[in-house]
Amino acid sequence: MTVYVDFYIDTKTNEIHQFGCNHIPIEDNIYLGIYRNLEVALIHAKSKGFINTSICNSCNI
Ligand SMILES: [Zn+2]
Repeated sequence: MTVYVDFYIDTKTNEIHQFGCNHIPIEDNIYLGIYRNLEVALIHAKSKGFINTSICNSCNI
C-alpha cells in the first residue's frame, strides 16, 4: 500500500518536513503538497523554485 503524506517546507532553513514532524515551524512554513515520500517532495519543491532545499533528518524515515 502506498501512503501519501502532507509535506511542508520551512522557509527559513529550506528544509522539507513531513506531516507530524515536530521540527515544522509554526509560522515560516509553506504547504508543499501530498507526496509519496520525502524524495518526491524534494523533487517537486525544486520544481517550484525552492532550489536549495534539503530533507529534514528528523522525519527522514
Ligand atoms: Zn522534519
